[in-house]
Amino acid sequence: MKKHNFSAGPSILPQSVLLKASEAIVDYNNTGLSLIEISHRSKEFVDIMENARSLALELLGLEGKGYKALFLQGGASMQFLMVAMNLLEKRAGYLDTGAWSAKAIKEARKLDDIYEVASSAEANYNYIPKGFDIPSDYDYFHCTSNNTIFGTQMKTFPKTNIPMVCDMSSDIFSRTLDFSQFDLLYAGAQKNMGPAGTTLVVVKEDILGKVSRDIPSIMDYKSHIKAGSMFNTPPVFPVYTSMLTLEWLKGLGGIAGIEKENDKKATLMYSEIDLNPLFKGFAAKEDRSKMNATFNLVNENLKETFETMLKEAGISAVNGHRSVGGYRASMYNALPLDSVKVLVEVMSELETKA
Ligand code: PMP
Repeated sequence: MKKHNFSAGPSILPQSVLLKASEAIVDYNNTGLSLIEISHRSKEFVDIMENARSLALELLGLEGKGYKALFLQGGASMQFLMVAMNLLEKRAGYLDTGAWSAKAIKEARKLDDIYEVASSAEANYNYIPKGFDIPSDYDYFHCTSNNTIFGTQMKTFPKTNIPMVCDMSSDIFSRTLDFSQFDLLYAGAQKNMGPAGTTLVVVKEDILGKVSRDIPSIMDYKSHIKAGSMFNTPPVFPVYTSMLTLEWLKGLGGIAGIEKENDKKATLMYSEIDLNPLFKGFAAKEDRSKMNATFNLVNENLKETFETMLKEAGISAVNGHRSVGGYRASMYNALPLDSVKVLVEVMSELETKA
């Protein structure tokens, strides 16, 4: 029986996508060949890549607005460096909201000057800093929309006249936003899109080509745009599976459709955390993530009982990240509301036992 999979990433994918993707591994569309044993230059795969790229733009509402979608490799972590290589000439501003923001800052600093516009590191990143200034003469501003480890999420984004770059690895395609406020966004596939191995980058073409450095070809967004996201052999299976997930999402009414489900899941989860005296939420209420709910047991003596109950209910991967401890329920797009119901039932049953 399928478990209730609350994994933070790689994470749950729609069952229909898994079935279709697994069929393609054996025989892609009755071609007599596996998807992973055909050329990436074949018509079959070129169509997949083009479909995945255009679905990404369509779902984000960015078609015809000067953006290009790319499916690259190296994970979101490579984007920490690639963003800086392509956009950093003198100085950029970064918002430090968690371990991944801090890593993005560390990598960009290897190239040039990075100014932290604000940080919540002093509070172990349990909130999103607000009311900071972004100097208008910086090359760009970088932020992380959802902090996977700490369970915080930016609800609004600053208004700025410089390019805005956003790491959306853990909440892309989960909520409606005006995506045109971003000039570049990126996300590792392994949460709301597909298996690990590809990273979606959506970039507004007119912000490129402005730095003086000689960017190595494979690190240059322009090389990837020019080659139709086929500068080198792309990760065919992660791209195909991401395409299937994007089709699944479109069939559900796109981002607006899934957002309704995500809101229901988050409301149910957080109301249990708030009403049940045995649990305490980690993140500041106004900054709570709808993707990753972080919480702790008030009384650590109940740990063993709670964890046994979780296991018996078929609940998988709600353990918190080592830097926060406690628990983390990741509720990505493909997680059914029923899984959250089962988790919440276990939490309330613990209350009756305690
Ligand atoms: N940014 C965020 C917000 C993440 O959650 C992660 C991975 N969990 C990363 C970046 C790093 O992604 P990758 O492992 O694909 O490099």
